[in-house]
Amino acid sequence: MEQQQISAYLLKSGIRPLQKRVKIMSYLVSKRNHPTVDMIYSDLIHEINGLSKTTIYNVLNLFVQSGVALALNIEGNEVRYDADTSTHGHFKCKICSGVIDFRIRQEELPNPMLEGFRVDEHHYYLKGVCSFCVNKIEA
Ligand SMILES: [Zn+2]
Ligand SMILES: [Zn+2]
Repeated sequence: MEQQQISAYLLKSGIRPLQKRVKIMSYLVSKRNHPTVDMIYSDLIHEINGLSKTTIYNVLNLFVQSGVALALNIEGNEVRYDADTSTHGHFKCKICSGVIDFRIRQEELPNPMLEGFRVDEHHYYLKGVCSFCVNKIEA
């Protein structure tokens, strides 16, 4: 997505498209790496004047509250952010810490065992070793 499209998208979601917000959203959308605040900070520090971790945290919080990003808490205190808010699962590699998306069949959700329940949040997490790291171990 171009910066202009990102601005329009934020605006449509009720978020004023300030430069820092647009840059952070554009980072999330293009990288798709489910970054932590620290990862965003070290990647964008040279691109955005006066960027602080607090700013990033506040922008991400706004995104989550406005429904344009998800905060993923896959393990421990580590929070990772995702601009893809559609229902999908996450696989976390124990070795490279990469978080990879996988598709979930919508028709299987929610599970019939939860008939009559109201589901407010979906979290599907798998942990293991990604194929890249498996290959490195076996090499
Ligand atoms: Zn890996
Ligand atoms: Zn994801």
